Amino acid sequence: MVKRVYNFYAGPATLPLPVLEKAQKNLLNFDDTGMSLMEISHRSKEYAKMHTEASSLVRELMGIPDDYKIMWLQGGASSQFYMVPLNLQVGKKPMEYVNTGVWSKKAIKEGKFYGDVKVVASSEDETFSYIPKDIEFSGNTAFAHITGNNTIYGTEYHEWPKVPSDVPLVCDMSSHIMDSVIDSKKFGVIYAGAQKNMGPAGVTLVIVRDDLLERVPENTPTMQKWKTHAEKDSLFNTGPCWAIYICKLSLEHLKELGSVSAMEKINRKKAKILYDVIDSSNDFYKGHAKKDSRSLMNVTFNLPTPELETKCVAEGLARNLVGLKGHRSIGGMRASIYNAMPVEGVQTLVEFMKEFQENNQ
Ligand SMILES: *Cc1c(COP(=O)(O)O)cnc(C)c1O
Repeated sequence: MVKRVYNFYAGPATLPLPVLEKAQKNLLNFDDTGMSLMEISHRSKEYAKMHTEASSLVRELMGIPDDYKIMWLQGGASSQFYMVPLNLQVGKKPMEYVNTGVWSKKAIKEGKFYGDVKVVASSEDETFSYIPKDIEFSGNTAFAHITGNNTIYGTEYHEWPKVPSDVPLVCDMSSHIMDSVIDSKKFGVIYAGAQKNMGPAGVTLVIVRDDLLERVPENTPTMQKWKTHAEKDSLFNTGPCWAIYICKLSLEHLKELGSVSAMEKINRKKAKILYDVIDSSNDFYKGHAKKDSRSLMNVTFNLPTPELETKCVAEGLARNLVGLKGHRSIGGMRASIYNAMPVEGVQTLVEFMKEFQENNQ
């Protein structure tokens, strides 16, 4: 048996073992070509079949309507921070954002290069420990941008903000894509770096409603137009073939488990196991996120002292519980329990946490 640990890293993150095994099994001979997928032309029929299946799986699993394009792009979710305003800003209209943490701020910063940005709500006053309520976007905005799950702070939207009917809602779903069932019609644009909840690093999933592809100024560099990639089904240039392939395997795996609705049940169960232990620890473990804003994916908490946190991370590591240190901007601890984290991983973690508390309080 190969050594495997429970990997709680925030991203790149754990992948389902059957996905890695399948990739390994097919590494040298993809689809009976006698070549690795890494070695074949992105114009070959074998590659094309795989590529189309990957996009169809996204459409099926997320219930994406026909009038949306599904794209596999490079440059990370971070490139979408500028591609969103570049492709959507029209007629000098302002752009509206909600600021729920580091990733929102980075998106806001890029928006400002293209015009007026309004931050309509923020949770910065309380270290981004909650998702603002009663968010109001105006009718006079080019788009409304939110970060659906805040990887660093462990907060997640559990209800989508309302937007005026002609304003596209744009959502960065990098760290929670397909963690629960959503109504995709509510969004104009969805984007997500694959390396947290869907696959490996190197590819970004971008989903855009057809009418929004037409807004981009003609003189925009070709590669930076969504329209270029949409029209060529993400085969305008050589895409990240291998990364798309691993996404395809992980989407197939998700489908076999019973699709996003089944995954959501498992995710709710995993999150409950962990939050229950935090809540019943008499404040030995203190959750960072307010209860109504808690993320299903990234569980952030503190211990009574930074010394105990360091000790807890180290003892966890010795038990093969890896990646529990919190993000440097808020410290503490963070367990990322993405779709690929099995329930047993979370159970092992909470057993360890209970024991650690007994020995250290
Ligand atoms: C990790 C992350 C990003 C950045 O993704 P890259 O692919 O590294 O550019 C953006 N948004 C959120 C919510 C993230 O968690």
